[in-house]
Amino acid sequence: MAFCPNCEAEYREGITRCSDCDMELVGELTDANKVHDTSEARMIAFQSFKTSAEAELVRDLLEQNGVRAFVEGAEFAILPGSFSGEVVLVVDERDFERAVEVYEAYFNAPADEGQPDNQ
Ligand SMILES: [Zn+2]
Repeated sequence: MAFCPNCEAEYREGITRCSDCDMELVGELTDANKVHDTSEARMIAFQSFKTSAEAELVRDLLEQNGVRAFVEGAEFAILPGSFSGEVVLVVDERDFERAVEVYEAYFNAPADEGQPDNQ
């Protein structure tokens, strides 16, 4: 038996490529060779913020660019004025580099255009 690591279809012995995906078949599907990793995503801290509003802004930015991101810590700031910790934006470990790219492209963009109200 052979399996397509992409669509996980079964093929009979002797077939070497998936006709749908044009992927090399494997003898056995494992977490290591499956294209779609179904294991739990590992979320790692991306950046911390003083307010959840800032964190949400960056989260929206990342999500618009296909990066899974969550704001952590905001739920501890329900009471006005009681907020003393920090808000941490976490991203899927596999999306981390992409998140950095998106973040830097957005926040390190030349500031001489587009923000006339900035003082
Ligand atoms: Zn396939």
